[in-house]
Amino acid sequence: MRKSTSLLEKALQKAEKVVLVGHFNPDGDSVGSVVGAYHYLASRGILSTMVLPGDYPKSLSFLDTGRKGEGIVSYQQKPEQALRAIGSADTIICLDFNRFSRTEQLAGALGESKAFKILIDHHIAPEEKEFDIVISTIRTSSACELLFWTLMDLPDIAGKVERLPMACANALYVGMMTDTNNFSNSCLPSTFNMASLLIRRGVNKDRLQEKVMHCYSVPRTKLMGYLLSEKMIYLSDMKAACITLSNSEKRKYHFKPGDSEGFVNQPLSIKSVRISALFTENNDGQYVRVSLRSKGNMDVNRLAQRFFNGGGHKNAAGGRLFIPIEDVPQYFAESLRKYLSGDGR
Ligand code: 5GP
Ligand code: MN
Repeated sequence: MRKSTSLLEKALQKAEKVVLVGHFNPDGDSVGSVVGAYHYLASRGILSTMVLPGDYPKSLSFLDTGRKGEGIVSYQQKPEQALRAIGSADTIICLDFNRFSRTEQLAGALGESKAFKILIDHHIAPEEKEFDIVISTIRTSSACELLFWTLMDLPDIAGKVERLPMACANALYVGMMTDTNNFSNSCLPSTFNMASLLIRRGVNKDRLQEKVMHCYSVPRTKLMGYLLSEKMIYLSDMKAACITLSNSEKRKYHFKPGDSEGFVNQPLSIKSVRISALFTENNDGQYVRVSLRSKGNMDVNRLAQRFFNGGGHKNAAGGRLFIPIEDVPQYFAESLRKYLSGDGR
């Protein structure tokens, strides 16, 4: 057993009030790792509370199957309950983010909490001083994959995938599947190994794919068509494309959380495009959410840090802008031009 895993085992043996936390704007990896950890702990008789900073896409709600009344607590819906859970925890496990600030309104409570804090994450440069145990690598597809191999290493599982609860197996598979965009990026040999073991465990990959990736409405598909045909701006000299999505367009197409999932990947299917950006006006119009993707050596993590108040991974990053959505294409073009000429790299 690796040193960090044996420290984790020791911490779990002492844990009584555990809280599992995911990041702001929760995605499949965030929900999958939180739910997966919940069901593993439950199988050891440790009850935990799942807390997310905000609501997550509806397509993932089938995973949210804690015992009665113990589903995911969203700060957006139940702020007091979320803060109370964090305040009274003796152990906090942070999943799929590398620093408290990625949990937005939960960050203060996490910082103040005296609980033992464990990080399980796959982002660059974790803020190590915020945690008591850091299990972190970028050499994995997803937080769910890292959690999977960590669990496989614990003494009660001891490499036997059939010992993982089915609800845990399903959640971890979904997180890995969504973070790799259905095995199209960040996949390592270990990722396929994980998939193979989970399928052997009984995961029905077709059912999960259907539930999570083929779950959209007619207006959502029309919105994607509209954005690609009317809104995509192709910057041929920089091998880049960007799309903006405003609140009035969202209303017109009955936009729901999760509907823009996958949009940013579309322009990358153009041979010459190396960078793709999606800019979405936040519901209350206070900021514009930024989503960046790239191919090969093009590093959008640094681009997001330098120009978009964010970060993430080399080929997938995000952030936010505080300018009107109409001004964003020009800002993107100017920023990218500066970046490609060496600013921020
Ligand atoms: P997405 O485009 O799917 O929202 O995010 C892609 C990646 O960038 C994810 O791994 C996510 O963790 C990271 N990311 C998204 N938004 C932010 C942000 O505001 N700050 C930082 N540091 N990372 C972000
Ligand atoms: Mn992730």
